[in-house]
Amino acid sequence: MKMYVAGQWIDKAEKIDVVNPYDNAVIDTVPRAGAADVERALESAVRGARVMAGLPGYERWKILKRAAELIEARNEALGRLISLEEGKIISEGRAEARRAVETIMGSAEEAKRIHGETIPLDGDPGGGKRFGVTLRVPCGVAVAISPFNFPLNLVCHKVGPALAGGNAVVIKPATDTPLSALKLTEILLEAGLPAEGVQCLTGLGGEIGDALVSDRRVRKITFTGSRDVGERICRLAGIKKVTMELGSNSPVIVMPDADLDKVAVAVTATGYANAGQVCISTQRVLTAGKVYGDFLDALTPRVAALTTGNQLEEKTKVGPMVREKDALRVEEWVKEAVSTGARVVVGGQRQGAIYAPTVIADVKPEMRISCDELFGPAVAVTPFNTVDEAIALANDTVYGLSAGIFTEHLEWAMKFAREVQSGNLHVNWGPQWRADLMPYGGLKESGFGKEGPRYAVEEMTELKMVVFHLSS
Ligand code: NAP
Repeated sequence: MKMYVAGQWIDKAEKIDVVNPYDNAVIDTVPRAGAADVERALESAVRGARVMAGLPGYERWKILKRAAELIEARNEALGRLISLEEGKIISEGRAEARRAVETIMGSAEEAKRIHGETIPLDGDPGGGKRFGVTLRVPCGVAVAISPFNFPLNLVCHKVGPALAGGNAVVIKPATDTPLSALKLTEILLEAGLPAEGVQCLTGLGGEIGDALVSDRRVRKITFTGSRDVGERICRLAGIKKVTMELGSNSPVIVMPDADLDKVAVAVTATGYANAGQVCISTQRVLTAGKVYGDFLDALTPRVAALTTGNQLEEKTKVGPMVREKDALRVEEWVKEAVSTGARVVVGGQRQGAIYAPTVIADVKPEMRISCDELFGPAVAVTPFNTVDEAIALANDTVYGLSAGIFTEHLEWAMKFAREVQSGNLHVNWGPQWRADLMPYGGLKESGFGKEGPRYAVEEMTELKMVVFHLSS
């Protein structure tokens, strides 16, 4: 495919192959953008921001609503494309395309709801003859940098609220999975978006990222990706609004009164979806010593039943990881844990980019598979004795994106909600659950700022205060 810069679909002699992670077959190529393309995109985005700021909310609503309808009509093709470039199983590809409809439609609705408030300045000792009102205005040029693991929906979570808020947006999709973002750009233009309201630059983050994020014309950066890249962007961004949606090693606490079958179902669903490459995947299962063995017995057959293979075949339950080197990382971390006292209960084998769904028990908190972000299809199980110890273990990490607890005991659930340092908390389900109506984002080094259209629109707009100084 071509990339979209300054109102044109353009190609370049230098290209990047996009491959199917299952067999490394080249499915398409995209241009490899350089510094001159970044400059053209930003110049154009400045013009686009003026056009977008002048577009009434009703028009922004209409464009986004039409885009949502087009995404819905193309569900099968988009689902297949997501699955092909990312490696997730086809049913997950279709589900992601359906979620994109919700995200863009939710953003459309927000385009009609952007408002300020009157401020009762007469409550101030010197405010009697003043009238105050706040206005929400677009930031201007927003740069949206997205990761590989949800190549359509995570782009929608940025682009939808940015456009709803009246900004121009420059998309920089992940190099492994740029095709879905390019298709979304096509759809937005077909839906009537002004030509310079969007740019989609394909190219290596390591080559074009610094120029994009440090440029003063950019007033908003919204980034989803790894902690280390996020930190670099924060250092370079300077004084501009930034949203960071970063990584995690999400914990689940299994209390002694938990329904173990329910926990096993939830851990299987939330630990291995998209081959574990979800920022809120269950990575650590902290299990009460009293039910430790019974929980492993309940979980093992469910994980063993997760068949691996070609992601496009309906029978496959877990597809390849996005690159073989990621599967090698998972293999290395599992081996390292085993060499320091953990044991593989099920899984533990790798074939190319496919890593078998794995349960690893007797994991110590200091092992990499527990304390770093694994981002792969292995779940680490660790015993604990008291609720305080479980909460301390859950919090013993730089991350804080999502967490779950299984218990019927209200006091334990409330203690978990109050004391676990995490942006999202789930009682009686795993950490991997999200609806677009919720404010979604991490604490600590999992980032800052919230997504979910209602909250993201606030991040994509600035608040102005207007004071009328009246004479009577
Ligand atoms: P990544 O390596 O950090 O890449 C994310 C994006 O940043 C890609 O578009 C990448 O481009 C770009 N990038 C790389 N270097 C850059 C630089 N110097 N300046 C600007 N941009 C740069 O992450 P990933 O491997 O794609 O995704 C996995 C990570 O994302 C995990 O840590 C996961 O937890 C996190 N994630 C978080 C959430 C959340 O909501 N909190 C959701 C999904 C994923 P290239 O592809 O060209 O390198």
